[in-house]
Amino acid sequence: MTRAYNFSAGPAMLPEPVMQQAAAEFLNWQNTGMSVMEMSHRSKEYMALAHKMEADLRQVMAIPSNYKVLFLHGGASMQFSAIPLNLTQPGDTVDYLNTGVWSTKAIVEARRFVHVNVVTGGELDNPVTIADPVEWHFSENAKYIHICVNETITGLEMQTSHLEAVFAQGKPVIADMSSNIMCREIDVSRYAMIYAGAQKNIGPAGMAIAIVREDLLGYARDDTPTLLNWQVYANNESMFNTPSTYSWYLAGLVFEWLQSIGGVAQMAKINERKATLLYNYLDQSSFYHNPIHPAQRSWMNVTFTLKNPALETDFLSQAKAAGLLSLKGHKAFGGMRASIYNAMPEAGVVALIAFLEQFAAQNA
Ligand SMILES: *Cc1c(COP(=O)(O)O)cnc(C)c1O
Repeated sequence: MTRAYNFSAGPAMLPEPVMQQAAAEFLNWQNTGMSVMEMSHRSKEYMALAHKMEADLRQVMAIPSNYKVLFLHGGASMQFSAIPLNLTQPGDTVDYLNTGVWSTKAIVEARRFVHVNVVTGGELDNPVTIADPVEWHFSENAKYIHICVNETITGLEMQTSHLEAVFAQGKPVIADMSSNIMCREIDVSRYAMIYAGAQKNIGPAGMAIAIVREDLLGYARDDTPTLLNWQVYANNESMFNTPSTYSWYLAGLVFEWLQSIGGVAQMAKINERKATLLYNYLDQSSFYHNPIHPAQRSWMNVTFTLKNPALETDFLSQAKAAGLLSLKGHKAFGGMRASIYNAMPEAGVVALIAFLEQFAAQNA
């Protein structure tokens, strides 16, 4: 079977050149006589690989030198706990925007440790619009503001005006970028901490990345578990214990691939083209519908419903037969979802649109 276009929200497609290189090096990496998977993380060879991987990420995201890059366990979800443990003391207040399921999960975890003020969206399940900042309620004494920039389940992404309203508070901004990291250029220096699980735009599942401004390190609560303490990762090059070595290696190949295509600036142009193509098609169709506020639509996760929901099963089985996989939406939101992360080629989006057209014509 040839490789399909996989629209899974995560773990998601990886760039084909990356997969080919990994396959070619699988048994014998750079004449070491072993796979990266079998190699000590303390070996000279692996340390060199790890250093290059971090340097490439720093280059790709233009990460300033006063930020530490940490490679962590437990996915993005583990950081939902680590963030309050590293940045607050009991009794403190923090501000969280609730823009969807992932924001809510972060709030639920933070509430174990601190008082959480919900700035906006508190009463909503799966909002399809983010309220105007004039309606938001920040607290005066928040230690930080937490945002989820791209809500993966609905495909709702914060606009520039939302981000500016957050930055204008002058508080440390903590951003979950699990599903849109490296999809476009950002100014890292405006954030206190950025984090992301790997399995969407970085590499295979099994690690998370945190980019933390140095002056925020060293304030973890005394009872913070060692492996949730950012300072421990920073002091030990993220090797206090055995890291997910193979995930690091594949992430390194993804960063090299991004560099080879012209970096995040070039990736952003491709992503914008892919998303525009798909949303334009959905908008002119009376058969499909995207429910998200047009100015807040994600470049990475495109949700849509069929006019007749009874056709969903047929839609999914015919899509699969056409080599278009994992289009079923998250059960919390329903409908369909096409995740078109960095590794999804434009040809995949073109193939999806051709299928959508054909299916609509046959079932009109
Ligand atoms: C996928 C996702 C997560 C959870 O990631 P895990 O690595 O499974 O913990 C958190 N936030 C967002 C925005 C996500 O898309």
